[in-house]
Amino acid sequence: MRRCCHELAAAPLYRCPRNGDRPVPERGDDAVDIQCPCGAVQLRISSAPVAQFWCHCADCRRVHNAAYVGESLYPAESVAVLSGETIAFTLRTTPRVSCARCGSRLFADLTDIGMRGVSGTLLPEEAFDPQLHIHCREAVAPVRDGLPHYQTKPVAFGGEDDAMMAW
Ligand SMILES: [Zn+2]
Ligand SMILES: [Zn+2]
Repeated sequence: MRRCCHELAAAPLYRCPRNGDRPVPERGDDAVDIQCPCGAVQLRISSAPVAQFWCHCADCRRVHNAAYVGESLYPAESVAVLSGETIAFTLRTTPRVSCARCGSRLFADLTDIGMRGVSGTLLPEEAFDPQLHIHCREAVAPVRDGLPHYQTKPVAFGGEDDAMMAW
């Protein structure tokens, strides 16, 4: 059912916990500082990624206006907003945090698993090396490469089975 603008306005706003109550982590050896394309928002990533993948799910495609999306997953506490104003939008379940100025998607707040999925396009090229494709059953642009193409997502990521797409 379509929700009118009044209902949307009444919906509780998701406030991106800037850094919660945590101090911004020191810039350790593993830290990577990245920024959105306009430079207004700076992020500090202070651990190695848990996983990097291409996501073909309908939600990612819609909010990014893209055929599929690169994501780099980290424990939420490892991704801190250093500066700049952010806005968030939740399509169905996952708040997506963007730069308030240029609108570029920064990360998805996967609150149920305590992770943040940073947009792969923000990382330095050598720091984004996806190992798999997920939600390929929803794909609109099949990608034929040497990576595994999961129909949904691997059991290790909370998926139901490890079924592959036959691309
Ligand atoms: Zn997705
Ligand atoms: Zn920006």
